[in-house]
Amino acid sequence: MPKRLYFFDEGDGNNKRLLGGKGAGLCTMAQLGLPVPPGFVITTEVCREYYEAGGRLPNGLMEEVVQAMKKLEKITGKGFGDPKNPLLVSVRSGSMYSMPGMMDTILNLGLNDETVEGLARLTNNERFAYDAYRRFIQMFGKIVLGVDGKKFEEIFERQKERVGAKFDTDLKASDLKEIVSKFKELVRKETHRDFPVDPYTQLELAIGAVFASWQNKRAVEYRRFYKIPDYLGTAVNVVTMVFGNIGEDSGTGVAFTRDPSTGEHKLFGEFLFNAQGEDVVAGIRTPLKIEDLNRRYPWIYNRLVEIAEKLERHYRDMQDIEFTVERGKLYMLQTRAGKRTAQAAVKIAVDMVVEGLIRKEEALLRIEPAHVEQLLHKQVDPKAKVTVIAKGLNASPGAAVGKVVFDSERAKEMGKAGEKVILVRPETSPDDVGGIIASQGVLTSRGGVTSHAAVVTRGLGKPAVVGCEAIKIDAEARRFEVDGIAVKEGDLITINGTTGEVILGEAPLIEPRMSPELLTILSFADEVKKLQNWANADYPRDAKKARELGAQGIGLCRTEHMFFEEDRLPLVHEMILGKTVEERKKPLEKLLQIQKNDFKEILEVMDGLPVIIRLLDPPLHEFLPKYEKLLEEVIELRLKGTDPDGLKKKEEMLKRVENMREANPMMGLRGCRLGITYPDINEMQVRAIFEAACELKREGKDPRPEIMIPLVGHVNELKVVREQLEKVAHEVMQKHGVDLKYKFGTMIEVPRAALTADEIAEYAEFFSFGTNDLTQMVFAYSRDDAEGRFLFQYIERGILEADPFQKLDQKGVGKLMKIAVDLGRSKRPDLEIGICGEHGGDPQSIEFCHELGLNYVSCSPFRIPVARLAAAHAALKSKEPEKQAYSMA
Ligand code: ADP
Ligand code: MG
Ligand code: MG
Repeated sequence: MPKRLYFFDEGDGNNKRLLGGKGAGLCTMAQLGLPVPPGFVITTEVCREYYEAGGRLPNGLMEEVVQAMKKLEKITGKGFGDPKNPLLVSVRSGSMYSMPGMMDTILNLGLNDETVEGLARLTNNERFAYDAYRRFIQMFGKIVLGVDGKKFEEIFERQKERVGAKFDTDLKASDLKEIVSKFKELVRKETHRDFPVDPYTQLELAIGAVFASWQNKRAVEYRRFYKIPDYLGTAVNVVTMVFGNIGEDSGTGVAFTRDPSTGEHKLFGEFLFNAQGEDVVAGIRTPLKIEDLNRRYPWIYNRLVEIAEKLERHYRDMQDIEFTVERGKLYMLQTRAGKRTAQAAVKIAVDMVVEGLIRKEEALLRIEPAHVEQLLHKQVDPKAKVTVIAKGLNASPGAAVGKVVFDSERAKEMGKAGEKVILVRPETSPDDVGGIIASQGVLTSRGGVTSHAAVVTRGLGKPAVVGCEAIKIDAEARRFEVDGIAVKEGDLITINGTTGEVILGEAPLIEPRMSPELLTILSFADEVKKLQNWANADYPRDAKKARELGAQGIGLCRTEHMFFEEDRLPLVHEMILGKTVEERKKPLEKLLQIQKNDFKEILEVMDGLPVIIRLLDPPLHEFLPKYEKLLEEVIELRLKGTDPDGLKKKEEMLKRVENMREANPMMGLRGCRLGITYPDINEMQVRAIFEAACELKREGKDPRPEIMIPLVGHVNELKVVREQLEKVAHEVMQKHGVDLKYKFGTMIEVPRAALTADEIAEYAEFFSFGTNDLTQMVFAYSRDDAEGRFLFQYIERGILEADPFQKLDQKGVGKLMKIAVDLGRSKRPDLEIGICGEHGGDPQSIEFCHELGLNYVSCSPFRIPVARLAAAHAALKSKEPEKQAYSMA
């Protein structure tokens, strides 16, 4: 029979699976010599036994619990149920993964009418004893006996009103006694039974209730969202009570060992004098900053700092701790890795490397690509004129715009309908998690930076402003008011979680800057990654951005966008309408000059780095007006009869467009087929590229053009085009007397090209996987039709795991890629291979590209930082298992 119970001084603090996170943390702290009240953990295995037995405590468990309680009595010198010196305990949940507030905890267990009197006598504090008692009945009544929690709150609030108490702490012993008797009455009425007085009965029921809370609705929902397996179960921690509500030299607090919002290395937290348990996070009274504790009780504060450092050295990570002070003595009640914003995650990781706590590789593995993505999220434009209507606490950074909603159900409904909403609540509770997920951000009027709303939004990377007391919420009427301004459900607001500001209407948002710490992390990434990060950029400004963000080349410069610009389109029309080489000559010459300048600029920006320029790819009719529209215009002109010249031109255009109509343009005359049919267009482009490069070279620059021929399916296509274009290239270089480094290569985007990549590699110095087209061809999906019609249904019904246009289909498309890599390199070992489809920016797909041994991944400039980190992760994860160990640490 496996051991079911572990005292804190014997449990293995690394075994969160068995002891749950809370239990493991308590064991670790006790064994580090930190002040933890004595107690024991009932393992998660017992939870599984509980469910296997159909929701009953397994046989023999209570006997073991009784033994453990006897031991606890001995350690503490108190007696469980002994009125002379009563031992009280908390019964706390705690699973392998932190699920804050999702399950239940019961405090002050062991109280009844006799022990409460004993506690009062012993502490000489009747008020305290009855405060503990009323809390116990309330928690036990709600959690174990299933009485609606609101009913307790009502009784409590009514009593406060009656005696004119502003805060809970204003209630006197006599008031609390009255509340206790009303609570017991309520329990009797609701459950048709007396409140259980026997401590062991209380304990047995409480343990069962904690196990049962593993399957409550919100815990199950939470696990679904975070993909936490149901079978893990929760442990139960039985902990000797210490009291923060015993007077003004007592209190309870929560803290982070570093600022979870900015990452600053400084104790960060909140504290409430004369309070117990959840009072701090529940926003009952506005708590004090941890600094205030420093002012009043510097020795406690200093002890806390010391403990924080010790815990960080042990865990080598930022910790989120819960503690209580009983008559000036500090007790630790919980420690776990602290949730943090992306900004804090990056700063903490870098700082810890500098402090020598962790290695660079570990630092890298602690930052998720999603973190980097969040840091590149938008901020409110500081230059914009905005109407700030209120200011709260900046609990989770970033800016969000949305329509105001006042409850989670509504948030979920509107979120589902694709609307952007901001959830506005007095405070949030674990029941709101679904609503928070559906919202862009959260605004609360109560609670501090460790409140539920703050913790959850930080975890999700959503902006939040909390404790914004200026806004008066009337949830029933679905509106809030601030300084005479009324904001109704559906009105737009902006919240700025970086500053705490609440802004009326939609504020303009801008791209953020990269912090020095993020730059450091990315430089670590560059040290370990094997893949290069290139960018897809069509314009010099994009190339510049990409280079700033760390791009090591341009993997795809599309030339067609250049053709669409206003001053060029008429020339492009003239070129396309030209039926003979002669007719196309004039417009092509003009385009040559323009294109040369385009290429010169982009090659100059990327000086010294490769720039892959793709020759014209789309079907030509994409540059021409739509047939239907032209037809309409021609008919109109004919009817009017006022502009015969214009009519003639339009008619010609119409005819040409009609001629060029294709049943399936994506599989028609496009890509290299264009260049074979109209060699003069290709030649113009290559001439422009080499003219530009030669000029730069003569100016002392180092241009590295690579010419990419699209849509090759048969080696002969490439052969013909390449030979023709090499001729032009040499001619230009000769003219300038310049020798350039350049390459010719091809996209691999037609399945046949992948399958015959060895033949193709004879004529290509590089391959670039165009996985957008390749995915279309492999699945025989046209993307626009698929995504608009059936694809999302496929995903919902589980026919496909994911959208193959977003996540590379490794089994199919990926297999073709592997074939192409192997065949290509077998012919040309130094073949340069990369990917330029959208997948080049997706972390999972990047990992796959690393495994395939590609040279680079190319993505849009803004994703470069994410892709750099992902490339580093891919390199670290594929190292030998021995080195991989630190990803688990
Ligand atoms: P949660 O998992 O929701 O954080 P906990 O089990 O940590 O719940 O309990 C919530 C709070 O109750 C703790 O932060 C602490 O303040 C208080 N608490 C729990 N056990 C004890 C105890 N033995 N003595 C004093 N306070 C306790
Ligand atoms: Mg809690
Ligand atoms: Mg806790």
